[in-house]
Amino acid sequence: MSSIQPTIIIVDDEIINIHSLARILRGTARLCFATSGKQALQLAKKLQAEMILLDVMLPDLSGFEVCKQLKNNPETSRCSVIFVTALGSTAEEAHGLRLGALDYIIKPFNPTIVRERVQNLLNLTLAYRKLEELSSTDFLTGAFNRRYLFEIADTELKRHRRHNRSASIMMLDIDHFKEINDNYGHSVGDQALRHLVQVCHENLREEDIFARFGGEEFCVLLPETDAATAKDAAERLRQSIKTAPMALDEQFLNMTVSIGLSGITLDESDDINYWIEQADKALYHAKKNGRDQVVLR
Ligand SMILES: [Mg+2]
Repeated sequence: MSSIQPTIIIVDDEIINIHSLARILRGTARLCFATSGKQALQLAKKLQAEMILLDVMLPDLSGFEVCKQLKNNPETSRCSVIFVTALGSTAEEAHGLRLGALDYIIKPFNPTIVRERVQNLLNLTLAYRKLEELSSTDFLTGAFNRRYLFEIADTELKRHRRHNRSASIMMLDIDHFKEINDNYGHSVGDQALRHLVQVCHENLREEDIFARFGGEEFCVLLPETDAATAKDAAERLRQSIKTAPMALDEQFLNMTVSIGLSGITLDESDDINYWIEQADKALYHAKKNGRDQVVLR
């Protein structure tokens, strides 16, 4: 999520309607266009659009069907929908709103009012997204926070259980972090945490859930990854951190990490707390055995 310009997709099978809405909304957002339901669905997903202005009568899928599919797909469910249509009966309007649309605008409309309405709802959408982002990330490092990890892990493990997939979990802790704070001060300590997060993001996969667990401790949930594969990934990560010292003003600061790892066997437990505890025990052994190493449960 970023602060770049938001995207609105205008969907209508009549080009003249697209032109008219585009004129009205000029300057509010990046405007993109689709002339069919299928195209609208593809575009909403591809562009991760914030909002879609949706005609109801389309040549392939109806606008109502498009709205339903958008809301049912986790990749597009956050896209705000506004119907813009000539279908003006109370039943149709109620149906559209019940499908989750934020508004239902009936043609012919007043251009000024439409612009103001769209702008207000776009602001609301952006504020909601910002709130979601803030509630899921750690303020200092930008990694996911612990709350989000638990939320997503629960869903992931249930899904894994259904499809009989394996997963793994990693607990990672910076070695002698207290000495960094004591020797260089807390702002360098904070910098070290951010540096570590950056190296981890570069080394982990897009689908791995990487979260700050607390202090200098981090937790990674690796979906669809067995213990052996996770062990390789953990070793690579440990090496990358060791060989990517952080640049301070006139020197380099070397960091090492200890990693505890556990393959998740869903027959044994599908409670994320249980598996974090297992990985944490392995981490304890990694520390006790001399740090800078990976220990698999
Ligand atoms: Mg139409």
